[in-house]
Amino acid sequence: MGFEEVNARVLAATEAAGRKKGAVQLIAVSKVQPNERVAAVLEKGHRVFGENRVQEASEKWPDFKSRFSGVELHLIGPLQSNKVRQAMELFDVIQTVDRPKLAKAIARLAGELGHCPRLFVQVNTGEEPQKAGILPPDADAFIAQCRDMGLTVEGLMCIPPAGTDPKPHFSMLSEIANRNGIEGLSMGMSGDFEVAIASGATHVRVGSAIFGDRDYG
Ligand SMILES: *Cc1c(COP(=O)(O)O)cnc(C)c1O
Repeated sequence: MGFEEVNARVLAATEAAGRKKGAVQLIAVSKVQPNERVAAVLEKGHRVFGENRVQEASEKWPDFKSRFSGVELHLIGPLQSNKVRQAMELFDVIQTVDRPKLAKAIARLAGELGHCPRLFVQVNTGEEPQKAGILPPDADAFIAQCRDMGLTVEGLMCIPPAGTDPKPHFSMLSEIANRNGIEGLSMGMSGDFEVAIASGATHVRVGSAIFGDRDYG
């Protein structure tokens, strides 16, 4: 598809859903992609990117950030407790807050560093054992706990189980957000971002449709 086409489709889906222009933020997921492909999208003027590993992001983004102003970097992969400081120094948004221990570490370091990234809570809507995210029945209590620690929960994030209809998962995420007074909804990837936008996504995370397949070899 490429960046222009994905961008155009995001705009068209936003309009088709009767939502305001700019209601949906496209996050270009650059994990594993060669630097030239990432630089090409930066050169087109796009500034919002997602990475799923702290280590990989810290190897490539300081340089991009010094070359291109206004970069906004989202962490969309699981965050280990021993990498929280590094993540808070590099990322503008952490989308994968999913357990009390992690929330506590973020709250403590926010005090120490004097700043806190924007935060999303990841919900494991499919209750998959191998997947990160708070379980749906525990989500309300966890969100309340984050707020008690002084953290602002800007949004919720989910990754529906592969090979299933994502719609019920998007609806579930939206319901949890609504009843907790949360506006941000990070949902939808290359295969289903238009469905996600119709279901109310405010952030879609698109990798391979923008950059091409990831080469893990
Ligand atoms: C890799 C990744 C994406 C992007 O996946 P594509 O199918 O390449 O668009 C989105 N969200 C998360 C959490 C990811 O890890």
